[in-house]
Order: sequence, then structure tokens, then C-alpha cells
Amino acid sequence: MKNIDLENLNIENIQQCLRQRKFSSGELTNAYLQKIKADETNAFISINENAVAEAKQADEKILKGETTPLTGVPLAVKDIILVKGLAATAASKMLENYTASYTATAVKRLQDAGMVILGKTNCDEFAMGSSNENSFFGPVLNPYDKERVAGGSSGGSAAAVAGNLAPVALGTDTGGSIRQPASFCGVVGLKPTYGRISRYGSMAMASSLDQIGPLGKTVKDLAYLLQYMAGVDDKDATSAQVKLPDYSLALEADATKLRLGLPQEYFSGSIDSYVSQSIERVVKLLEEKGFIIEKVNLPNTDYALAAYYLLMPAEVSSNLARFDGLLYGLAGQKEMSLDQWYKEVRSQGFGAETKRRIILGTYILSAGYYDAYYKQAQKLRTLIKQDFVEVFKKVDVLITPSTPTTAFAVGEKTQDPLQMYLSDVFTVGANIAGICGLSLPIGFDKNNLPIGLQLLAEPFAEDKLFTLGHFIENLLINNIK
Ligand code: GLN
Repeated sequence: MKNIDLENLNIENIQQCLRQRKFSSGELTNAYLQKIKADETNAFISINENAVAEAKQADEKILKGETTPLTGVPLAVKDIILVKGLAATAASKMLENYTASYTATAVKRLQDAGMVILGKTNCDEFAMGSSNENSFFGPVLNPYDKERVAGGSSGGSAAAVAGNLAPVALGTDTGGSIRQPASFCGVVGLKPTYGRISRYGSMAMASSLDQIGPLGKTVKDLAYLLQYMAGVDDKDATSAQVKLPDYSLALEADATKLRLGLPQEYFSGSIDSYVSQSIERVVKLLEEKGFIIEKVNLPNTDYALAAYYLLMPAEVSSNLARFDGLLYGLAGQKEMSLDQWYKEVRSQGFGAETKRRIILGTYILSAGYYDAYYKQAQKLRTLIKQDFVEVFKKVDVLITPSTPTTAFAVGEKTQDPLQMYLSDVFTVGANIAGICGLSLPIGFDKNNLPIGLQLLAEPFAEDKLFTLGHFIENLLINNIK
């Protein structure tokens, strides 16, 4: 087997090596699979047994010159996104033995562009969690410190990229599930605008908040993946008919033209001092480069977490009603009554956090409480959205922390769901408002754990996130302390 250094690979240098025949996609895929087999972070739930064969097909295309920038590049996919013929468990016992019968549009587009699926990554059950400890297959450990969590719910995807088990990966983000683990694992993660990427084939958690998005080592890699995944899809009525820009232009655009804002509400709570100092340092570097950075306000920020934890479980309780073991998933004993069957199958199939949210969501939607909780939360949603509309009249991109702290210890928050929910305090706003957000690694704390910076922009302005994100990446490379 060829010895390939997987440390510093990104889409562009993989593509170059493939074209110069330094290694083939088959060899590269094999190298990743070997590394995945030896992985100690539990990042993957299953691997694609056909990966090497698929990579060899990509090699043939490369020989014939029929390529895109993604041909032969390996990809890891969160286990909540369907890939025909591969297991799709959503990290739940309920779907332990389920094999997908069709492929998600986002994945299909990447496969059509020549990407090779390595396997399916671990996550919190049905994407519900902030630490990846809610997986039926066990927690994902942080590659920087195996006693700490990788974040969640797309923890497997973030750990896979950070641990060089895949160059790039897909996750889903309903309240921060791409940006928070990206921040904990020191990789880049994008939550695209609601509607930018088809949700067809992504198991629904909260349909009005969910988006598929990419994780990688560089902003450029995310731009490549978004370019191929995005766009309207007949199979998802909420996918938006909005012009898709050429994102390579965004990477070359003049970042200094962007007006930047610091939302004061995101800096007033309890943020780890290392996180705030790191952000201040980046802000200072940007100011030195001539950026005007304005202090701005998002007055309803304090309500975002509460609104999210009402709206999201309401939608979860409805979406997860389909898992009853009658059509797919865990099945019960045939001689039971239907009531018994439901009780048996759903009690056994779901984990504690999933049950908590189904029960909470059912309560929130029940007659008598609907007005008090669900309707109030919807009103808050409108106010929070309005805050962003107003602020984006003044600035192009907002700068915030991605998370209040760096990665916490395994087991530290499992007994206290409220503490766990607080790790989403800076990320849920983007989902509630349907805007786009990117998390970018900007340094390390005293324990050598990665710190993430979040950039937020108005709907369909991913190009602005790429422009500024790419600029900050370069700025930091040139200012390493
Ligand atoms: N951590 C958040 C939650 O537990 C977000 C999950 C997600 O984005 N899928 O709901």
C-alpha cells in the first residue's frame, strides 16, 4: 500500500496529486479507510465497502480527462443523510439495521461531480445534542484531547476532518450542529442559508430549521462543496430558486469592502476568557488592516435559545412520529396490540434525549399549551428574524464567538440538559432567522483546544462569508504568535 501523508490534504492539493499521478483516488481512498479502521475517536458508524471500487471509477475518469475539481476526492457523510445502499442509522437503535433506499440530493450532486463516499459518520441521535454523547454507538472523542467531546451533533464529521480520516465531510445544522463541533475540533464549518441546499434525503429533525452543510480544513474547500451541492431541487419544495454565484470569485473578492459588525449581546454573557481574547485579537488585526468594525445590537438575542428549545422539540415530536417500526426500523412482537406495539418499539428504539424532546414537543403542541408556548415562540422567531434584517441594513457580516467555551469533558454535561443546551447560545439565532453562518478556527486556549469564530451574513450571502473567512484564514497564517 502506498504511504500517503494525509495530514495536510485539501481538495486542491488532492486534485493536483491525482492529476500528476502522485497517487490515485483508489490509493488515497484505501489510505483513508485504513486510518478510519485504526481510529480511536469513534468518528465513523460504518464504512462504504465499495469505496475503493468507486474511487477506481473516478481514476478512470481522470485518465480520460473527464473531471470536475471534485473527481476522486473522498467525502465522509453524517449518518443522518441518506446514501443509497449504505446504512443510515441517525445514530439511533431505532434504525440500527436500516439501509437507505435512495440518495440525498446533496450527496447525489457530489457523487455526480466524482466524489467518493468513505462512510457514514457518528452523530447525536437524530441530530439532537451538542456533544455527540447521545449516540447509540457511543460518543465521538475530540481528536485534540480524547477525554473531551467533539461537539455535536455532527461530531463525527468534525472529528473525521480534524483527525485526517477524511479531507471533507457533510453535516447537518438545526441549531449549531455543524458550527459547534467545527469549533470544538478546529475545522471550518458552514451552515448555509435555509433553502440553499436541498434537504431531500436528510432525515428531518426540525424541518423549518434543518440545513445540510460542509465541513473542511479550509474555507476554499467549503466553497467547492457548496458550489456543487447548492441549488433548487424538485424534490424539496423549500429549496430556493436563487441564483448560485461562482464562489471562486468570492475567494478573490476584496474583503476590505465588507462592513463588519460586533453584536454586543453576543459578548455580554459568560464567555470563556480565552474565547473572548482570541476574538478580540482577530478584531484588532482586522482593524489594523483598515476594516471598519461597528458595534451593533440584536436586542432579542436573549430569547433565541428559549424560542429554539420550544420550536425545535415541537417539530421533532411531529417528525419522529414516523418511527414506529411498522414500515422500517425496530419491530415488535407480532401478537401485541397496536398501543403496546408503539410503547414497546418507541421505548426501546429511542434514547433518553430523543424521548425528552418528543415528550416536550408533544406537550408544547397540545391543546391549551399551544398558545402559551408554540405561538409565543413563533412570535419570538419573527422578532429575532427582524433583528437580523435591521442589522444587515448596516453591516455585511457579523463577528461572534461560535461557542461560549472550548470542548468540555466527556460526561461533564450529560446529567444537566440545560447546561448542554447553553452551548448552542450563539448558533441557534442563524437557524431561527434562516440566515447563513460559518465557524472558523482562530487559535487555541491554554489546554491547546481549538477556538472558533462565527461569521453571520444575510440569506444567500454565503459568498460574503467565504470572502471574509478566506481573508481571516490568511491573516492568521501570517500572524501566528
Ligand atoms: N445542539 C442543538 C440541539 O441539541 C443543535 C442540534 C442540531 O443542530 N442538529 O438541538
